[in-house]
Amino acid sequence: MPTSVSLIVDEIGQLCTIPTQDGGPQRGSQLGELGIITNAAVAISEGKIVNAGTREEILDNYHADRVISARGRLVTPGLIDPHTHAVWMGDRADEFEQRLQGVSYQEIMAAGGGINRTVQLTRAASVADLVEAAKLRLTRAMQHGTTTMEIKTGYGLNVETEMALLNAIALLDVEHPLDIVPTFLGAHAIPPEFADDPDGYVALVTDQMIPLVASWKEEHWPDAVYCDVFCEEGAFSLEQTRRIFEVARRAGLSLRLHADEFASLGGVELAIEMGARSVDHLLATTPEDAERLGMSDTIAVLMPATPFGLGIANTAPLPLLLQTNAIVALGSDCNPGTAWCENMQFTLALACRQLRMTPAQALCAATINAAFAVDQGFVAGSIEADRRADLVIWDVPDYRHLPYRFGTNMAGVVIKSGAIVYDSIPGV
Ligand SMILES: [Zn+2]
Repeated sequence: MPTSVSLIVDEIGQLCTIPTQDGGPQRGSQLGELGIITNAAVAISEGKIVNAGTREEILDNYHADRVISARGRLVTPGLIDPHTHAVWMGDRADEFEQRLQGVSYQEIMAAGGGINRTVQLTRAASVADLVEAAKLRLTRAMQHGTTTMEIKTGYGLNVETEMALLNAIALLDVEHPLDIVPTFLGAHAIPPEFADDPDGYVALVTDQMIPLVASWKEEHWPDAVYCDVFCEEGAFSLEQTRRIFEVARRAGLSLRLHADEFASLGGVELAIEMGARSVDHLLATTPEDAERLGMSDTIAVLMPATPFGLGIANTAPLPLLLQTNAIVALGSDCNPGTAWCENMQFTLALACRQLRMTPAQALCAATINAAFAVDQGFVAGSIEADRRADLVIWDVPDYRHLPYRFGTNMAGVVIKSGAIVYDSIPGV
């Protein structure tokens, strides 16, 4: 007797299951293991994958109330976006225009623009307005194949608004189909009121904000909550980063770091030393730090949309990271300043062109490895029994189309925890 399940996705031309490597992320040159099954099907029940295999294996063993046909198309796990700043108010289109006229991002920041401009608008907004604005972004991401998203605070930079942003993130997790992973980024920029006393702001982060985030976690969030710092010239020094990380770690928060976006301050080494889950950006990472990443479990999150958004070269040392056996993941960095793009397909397209990733490496970096970068590597990122049924039927026949084509949406049907949340293919 076949086992009864709630949904079968049948007639999959190419199923990329994206396996783990020995139960963990795909390290170094092992990146790109797709686990392809052709003429495949996936059985789903109660929001989880029951089994995935050839059509014969699935149809002989399972019976479903609802069967949808992929009609020979590509199916992959939902994309995981491990780095976004998706909750903010307003826009900075005028700064984009200034940058095109030759003003640098650092100059714009120094003149009160950049992050602090968004902070002003975000502080003035209500939680309800922030949630509404972010929902539109989350929906766009989901319609482009993202099923799990990390979201950072960092446009509040005072106790009240940083906590409001965390509450907005928690509301989004409840009210939107996407699974959300929260990160506290109080140390995103020095707010204007502390311009002459940056250490005073660091003390506000360590003495007031982090204890509140820790109690917020106790009350609202059983899974990992992260503390992130923008360790960069003009933002937070290495020493300030260490101070914040030490307090955050003692308070039970996990760590991740913005490092080496413009200059290498030693953040990668510090993050590894303190057991951070990821270091993100890495455009200025040294060969020595690439070696260190290769010997650690800290994941290197590359975000090609950011240098693209800034119109600068992508200098992340991908070949070296793969050679040293580092774990590489991809993220969007979706934010209003440098990379307003909710579409992870575009990140794949850029990763292949700017970083010379292969299409298979890019897909694995944006699924299983990105899942491990947000501690979801055992529940998402791969099509395997008992994981969340987060799948995308792409309106293409083969995984190589995902980075090969760009500028239009190739997501056909998005299935989130077993439910169809987006469907652009009539008759599927
Ligand atoms: Zn960022």
